[in-house]
Amino acid sequence: MRSISGLAPERDCLVRDLHRHSALHTPHYALGEGREGMKSHTHYLWFNTKSRQEIIDVTEQVAQQVAESGVKEGLVLVSAMHITASVFVNDHESGLWADILKWLETTVAPWDPKRYRHNETGEDNAAAHLRSLTIGHEVIVPITAGKLDLGPWQRVFYGEWDGQRKKRVIVKVLGE
Ligand code: ZN
Repeated sequence: MRSISGLAPERDCLVRDLHRHSALHTPHYALGEGREGMKSHTHYLWFNTKSRQEIIDVTEQVAQQVAESGVKEGLVLVSAMHITASVFVNDHESGLWADILKWLETTVAPWDPKRYRHNETGEDNAAAHLRSLTIGHEVIVPITAGKLDLGPWQRVFYGEWDGQRKKRVIVKVLGE
């Protein structure tokens, strides 16, 4: 996995330098040159998991879309396009992933179709809806100097709570 803990202070300095730069120098756009408009780049990640519940690290796929967008300063939205899945930021550690799955099953929403009103419709996935609500369905990650500006241990994950079928996540990059 990628560890960028040593870069954190430099990144703080970079932000301060940008502020100082704009205070001391006339910005290029004020001179009518070198000013680029806001860019937008949209991509869909597809999943069809072997297991019904699964946690997948998508950080590199998101970083690849940021690189393709050409955005240097901006934001990337990563959002599950389903009501039984999640996108979240956390640690790339397999013990933690097992803990999350166990927590969802034992504490948040056990996969017990009989206990939920939603499943009276003939569905069996009420637990997956509740897990999506609990973990959340989207994240926004800052982009600084053309890279994902994540904390030292932060990674972006897709959480599948009712898989074994085609599902997707939208990645939308916005910025300059
Ligand atoms: Zn449902």
